[in-house]
Amino acid sequence: MGDSGYFFNFDKMSYVKGRHPAGCILCLARDRSPDVVDLSIWRDAQFVASVNLYPYNPGHLMIYPCRHVEDIRELTREEETELVALQRWLLGILDRACAPHAYNIGFNMGAAAGASINHLHLHIIPRYPRETGIADLIAGRRVLVEDPRETARRLSEIIAQAPFSISSS
Ligand SMILES: [Zn+2]
Repeated sequence: MGDSGYFFNFDKMSYVKGRHPAGCILCLARDRSPDVVDLSIWRDAQFVASVNLYPYNPGHLMIYPCRHVEDIRELTREEETELVALQRWLLGILDRACAPHAYNIGFNMGAAAGASINHLHLHIIPRYPRETGIADLIAGRRVLVEDPRETARRLSEIIAQAPFSISSS
């Protein structure tokens, strides 16, 4: 199994505190429900950017639309435009925060593709030169070298100094 195998299998995550709440996890996170862990680092009326609770690597982010859509073709042109600008901006933030050597960026659309959350979300996964592959996996998850809450804190600090602008990003 190569890296692409990992890429499509890391999505088995849970944002749930205690019992599984009814409804969509990302809709609950969008609404700042007390039932789910809030690792969001940025939001506006159209999108939320969040650190992944079970990151594949330090700095693993998700961008998801505030609207519950399950297919990229449901995004409006306005949302598409902002999503591209958000990617560009967040890659700059991650370059500063984590200095990765490469990125995986993409959607898992549909359960058969590995998506465990139906609500559309774009993964941005920093890649580092010293990753060793499958030996790093324990019980299906990579060994963390940074608490995602600490990642969120560090990224939020950088974001405060380099805020998103759709025109200048
Ligand atoms: Zn949802």
